[in-house]
Amino acid sequence: MSSDTIGRRNSNLFVSEASRESIDGYLLNRLKTARSNVLAGNVSPTINMAEFRAELASKDFQQPEALESVLEWTISSMENGLVHTTHPRYFGLFNPSPTFPAICADYIAAEFNPQVCVWSHAPVAVEIENHVIQRLAERVGFSSSAGGHFTSGGAEANNTAVVCALTSSNDEFANKGARAFAGQPRIYVSKESHLAWYKIAHQLGIGRASVRLIDTDGNGRMDSSKLEQTVRQDIELGDVPVLIAATAGTTNAGVVDSLNEAADIATNFDLWFHVDAAWGGALLASREYMHVLKGIERADSVTIDAHKWFATTMGAGIFLTQHKSVMSEAFAVSTDYMPSNDSAVDLYVNSIQWSRRFVGLRLFLSLCAAGWQGYAQHVEHSISMIDRLADAMIAKGWALRNQSRMAVACLVPPKCSVSIQELVKRVVSAGSSWVSVTRFEGQEVIRVCATNGNLSEADVDQLVTDLIQNSI
Ligand SMILES: *Cc1c(COP(=O)(O)O)cnc(C)c1O
Repeated sequence: MSSDTIGRRNSNLFVSEASRESIDGYLLNRLKTARSNVLAGNVSPTINMAEFRAELASKDFQQPEALESVLEWTISSMENGLVHTTHPRYFGLFNPSPTFPAICADYIAAEFNPQVCVWSHAPVAVEIENHVIQRLAERVGFSSSAGGHFTSGGAEANNTAVVCALTSSNDEFANKGARAFAGQPRIYVSKESHLAWYKIAHQLGIGRASVRLIDTDGNGRMDSSKLEQTVRQDIELGDVPVLIAATAGTTNAGVVDSLNEAADIATNFDLWFHVDAAWGGALLASREYMHVLKGIERADSVTIDAHKWFATTMGAGIFLTQHKSVMSEAFAVSTDYMPSNDSAVDLYVNSIQWSRRFVGLRLFLSLCAAGWQGYAQHVEHSISMIDRLADAMIAKGWALRNQSRMAVACLVPPKCSVSIQELVKRVVSAGSSWVSVTRFEGQEVIRVCATNGNLSEADVDQLVTDLIQNSI
């Protein structure tokens, strides 16, 4: 460090109030322009990546660069260099156009930057998050003794469920890991489930082979009799079944496993019952559609993503459980440098994360601003948009492959069309809409998800045109 910088704070990192005000003003205006550019432009990236990489490489961090100029470069690159999930005609994987209250929450969280892992450091933040968790748990149908916490997303929440299930099923698991079990631990999910289960099993040291993928019934639902049969066979083989995770809204097709049948099997064999409602969980907001999730109240734990159909910014997931004490058993640790170690309130002794961001504020502000009825309107709007699309496509001779009360359609064009791969490639490269290819029950389909809160009837009609025009 040169002698003239010693003892002086860096004013590029920790800026004066005057520069802050000027850059804040610039940023708000520039983002406003970016929003209209995104709306007017392609949903898919158009940037020349070779040029972009050269520009990026030139940023060698040798000389400070004016913040405004780096902000301009970053925003204009992002305008052309992303799949725009905020665009109304992004019919992708429920990556949302975030709610405005959630954006406000991010700004506030960044300003105060509270350390949410310890209650005593951020009592207001921790209690706001807990309040949201309690209200969601009630909505699920859990008793007032239920608990939970925010996570980075659905995969972390599902991971938390498996840690809790293993810890609860065997007192020795915490110390001995997989060797605590007399045989191979087993977790059961359907073939249409979200396959992060493999990564979770790998990380937890029970091995990818512990995941039993249960066949589906031809309509994307876990086959309950196959599930029961597999659990029985595994026990006969000396394996140790631990958890059944039913999916309430499959990623591909929005199909809900039979939650009551899975719950019955879990009860009979004394297994942990988890419901992965990562995106479908938002239906809890709607009195009209919440029945789709019937049986979810019997779960030992539930995953819901705030950053999918609840449309907060990423990443924000939620883990809920009826067994609060299992979380503190699973994540207990004590250190001298932490200000406290209170399993009743401190999140670092109840969850995978240690330092954590105040992500719960996003859903809190959104729920305050719109109420459950506002979210009900949001999900019901999405469903009416997908119905409009499905009706239009069926009228044009297309087939709707999935049956779902969520806002996703798995579509198959008529035989005379170009291949599905080709069709989707054409639509995406034309840039007016974004859809994807997936496989549902072994068959290739076009997947259209209508969870974007800004979606209008005109956008749906434009997608119909895009699909039809590119199919011949
Ligand atoms: C998206 C999804 C996940 C994973 O959630 P992330 O937020 O991406 O970590 C898990 N399960 C289901 C059913 C999902 O749709």
